[in-house]
Amino acid sequence: MCRHAAWLGAERSLASLIDEPEHGLLKQSYAPRRQRHGMVNADGYGMGWYVPGRPEPVRYRRSVPIWTDANLPGLAAVARSTCLLAAVRSATVGMPVEESATAPFTDRTWLLSHNGRVARDAVADLCDAAESTCDAAWVAGAVFQRGRAGAGLGESLAEVVVQAGEKDPAARLNLLASDGTTLAATVWGDTLFHHRFHDGVLVASEPLDDLPGWQAVPERSLLTVTRDDVRVQPL
Ligand code: GLN
Repeated sequence: MCRHAAWLGAERSLASLIDEPEHGLLKQSYAPRRQRHGMVNADGYGMGWYVPGRPEPVRYRRSVPIWTDANLPGLAAVARSTCLLAAVRSATVGMPVEESATAPFTDRTWLLSHNGRVARDAVADLCDAAESTCDAAWVAGAVFQRGRAGAGLGESLAEVVVQAGEKDPAARLNLLASDGTTLAATVWGDTLFHHRFHDGVLVASEPLDDLPGWQAVPERSLLTVTRDDVRVQPL
């Protein structure tokens, strides 16, 4: 299982997800505390963020362990946004380790990360094409296809997770996605937490620190976060 995290609110740096918190994604890449599958997340990492005047996110991803990228701390410190998403990857057995298999995936204004695994057959039916043979790329392709057809972010995630989950009952489908103004995340087989602040909301596979305020999101639900609302709906 990979680990992912996102922020929506007042402008913050990517470092606030990665190396500033005691248990940010950098630490979670080699010492996750709640991970149910896999021990380290060393098969790549990525991040996406939105900047004024550009509806598409900036996306940066690598297929190396996050701790080996000496350029990252400087970049993460200055890349600031009201909407941030980042992930560290532990490739599922049989999946390629390559940049195109690494989250976040992106299409138009959307970003998406997948924690989990799913039989490719179960998602191949839901999607015409994907950029990698990795299951997560197919999940992303299926969600993006629904978005291109006019479905909303949360609606697209919910539809893909429920349909793929029906076809593969052993699937784990924790997705985290954004369009720059909303965060949407599913809980389907692994952990997810959110933390509200006066100026925004953090969403993460597991808490980024030991401070009070982290709330677990229940299994089989969809979390939707906007600037003025946090909603949890059953899937
Ligand atoms: N199955 C996906 C991949 O291989 C996600 C892996 C994970 O959550 N560990 O990238």
